[in-house]
Formats: sequence, C-alpha cells, structure tokens
Amino acid sequence: MDGKEVAVVVQEKIKKQTAEWIKRTGQTPKLTAVVVGKNAASQFYVRSKKKAAMEVGFISEIIELPAKVTEVELLACIKELNQDVTVHGILVQLPLPQHIDEHKVICQIDVYKDVDGFHPEQVGALSIGLNGLAPCTPAGIIELLKYYKIKISGKHAVVIGRSNIVGKPIANMLLKLDATVTITHSQTQNLAEITRGADILIVSIGQPHFLTADLVKEGAVVIDVGINRTEAGKLIGDVDFEGVKEKVFAITPVPGGVGPMTISMLLDNTLVAFKRIVSVENKE
Ligand code: NDP
Repeated sequence: MDGKEVAVVVQEKIKKQTAEWIKRTGQTPKLTAVVVGKNAASQFYVRSKKKAAMEVGFISEIIELPAKVTEVELLACIKELNQDVTVHGILVQLPLPQHIDEHKVICQIDVYKDVDGFHPEQVGALSIGLNGLAPCTPAGIIELLKYYKIKISGKHAVVIGRSNIVGKPIANMLLKLDATVTITHSQTQNLAEITRGADILIVSIGQPHFLTADLVKEGAVVIDVGINRTEAGKLIGDVDFEGVKEKVFAITPVPGGVGPMTISMLLDNTLVAFKRIVSVENKE
C-alpha cells in the first residue's frame, strides 16, 4: 500500500475543496503550529506540515517559542489562538519540555480547532463513535485501508501498542467499522499466538523490525506505523518488510506508508474545522 500515492489523491481533493470554499466564503483556512524549543525533529515536522498546508491553499504559520517558555505563557498563547477568528486549526508539536504539562496544554486548545484530535473531548467522542476530529495517524490508516478496498467488517484486527495517539484511537476506529479488535502491549502474554490470528495487524511500538514473518498469518494485511532510525541514519519500521511482504496480502512500507497519510489527514482535519467554524459564523 503506497501511502505517498494515496496522500497525493487526498491532498488533491482537499486543494479542490479549499479553492471552492475560499471562493464561496471569502475566507481561507488557516493552520497555526506552535513549536517549543529547537528540537530538530519537531522543527522538521512543523515545517513539513506548514509546507503541505500551503500547497493545498491554506494559510499556515509557525509560532516558535523558546525552550524556557513557561507553561502559563504557552497556555496564554493558545488562548489567543483560540480567540483569533482567522485561525481554524491549532496544533502544538509534541513532545514539550519536561517543565510543561502536556495534558494541560492539549486541554487548552479549543476543541473545534484541535486538528490533532488529542483533546479529551475528541477522544471521548471517538470512543462513543461520534464524528469529531480524529487523530491524524489512525485516520490515515483507515483512509489507506479504504483506498485499497480492504474489508474491515467482521475481520480480526490486532493492534500492537496502546499509545493515545495511535494504538487506542485506531482500535476505536476499527471497532466502529465492525472489526473484532484486540489491543496488545508490552505486558501481553502469548503475543505471537494473538498476532498469528490477525487478519489486519497494526504495529505501533517503535522497535525496529519487531514483527517478523513467523508472527504473521498468510494473507494478512499489515500496517507499519513505526519510525526508527538505524545507526546509518536510514528510516525503518517496526515490521521486517522484506521478510513479511511475501506472506501477506498487503503491507505498508516505511518510509512511504503511514507517514505521508498523517500529514494529509491533518490537512483534512483543518478543512473540516474551517468548514464547521465558517458555517457556524454564517448562521449567526
Ligand atoms: P509509544 O512509543 O508511545 O508506545 C509504545 C507502545 O508499544 C506502548 O504501548 C508499549 O506498551 C508498546 N510496546 C513496546 N514494546 C512492545 C512489545 N515488545 N510488544 C508489544 N507492545 C510493545 O507509541 P506510539 O504509537 O506513539 O509510537 C510508536 C512508533 O510509531 C514510534 O516509532 C513512533 O515514532 C511511530 N509513529 C509514527 C507516526 C507516523 O506518522 N508514521 C505517528 C506516531 C508514531 P506499554 O504501553 O505496555 O509500554
């Protein structure tokens, strides 16, 4: 499954819709990213997001705050963005420095502008099957499965990893689509037995080439979320792609699988947030 190809398709659709909405409303979707400190990976990610946002016709800005910014100052910055009617999507690049409470910061973001989908209210909405702004990586996985017409209903989906940003939300999304879902983690007993029973396997643990062919059922669909860097600087996933690919029906590579979809879904969420905000404004 080629995430780069599907990401282009999704972004073309967003670009077309954005142009139509700008024409109709005279307003332009705006995505603001807040980044704290000089972490190279964070800086790279926010710049990639800004570039992608501008390519589909959004306005995008990055607010760079120093590593020593206080929690109170960061919360005040978010409050300002919440009140700014020209801003439709807000994201705070994680991780934050240790002296800042990540949870407090996420809760401060206006739920209608929370395009990362991390606010507890969005998480709650997702868990009871309501449509909100879903976290981008799991939303991208679902988009990939749909694009490749992978049947989800009735299938046994096994998720390895229980993070708040991937494992738990993808489990909820698959459940909503009528999969039978098993979530596994570092304390799971007999993991191999469980993974060998999976029709769809989602791996998000951050351990290079953890999932080997002997852990996978013939004909399964494997989604590799992991991003690991080798000593030589090469990006590799949590799945032993070469070993597993011969055995499965479909598999995502790293890089070029889930990664590009994550940014596409961020843009999609921003457009959804924009449409909701502008529609409410127009009714008032
Ligand atoms: P975390 O790194 O937050 O947590 C890892 C999860 O894996 C935990 O739930 C942990 O279990 C579980 N785990 C660790 N070792 C094992 C094991 N041996 N067997 C079973 N489960 C295990 O998860 P994330 O989802 O945030 O990140 C995982 C990977 O995905 C990272 O490489 C990250 O960089 C990548 N990623 C990629 C994205 C993309 O856009 N492509 C987006 C987000 C993440 P426990 O809870 O018990 O500790």
